[in-house]
Amino acid sequence: MTKTSSINRAWHEKNRMPANANFEQRVKWHMEHKKHCSCRPIPKKLVEEMKKKGLSL
Ligand SMILES: [Zn+2]
Repeated sequence: MTKTSSINRAWHEKNRMPANANFEQRVKWHMEHKKHCSCRPIPKKLVEEMKKKGLSL
């Protein structure tokens, strides 16, 4: 059995990204997301914004 992408569907079902998520919401979502699921990385743009604001992963 090979895992190409490990998506935690159960987590995604319970944790939908709000349609008009602001910066803080997106950061929070991705922080939780990376703990539970690795279907996709944090977008570079968001990482850049986090660095600017002095937030670390
Ligand atoms: Zn995911």
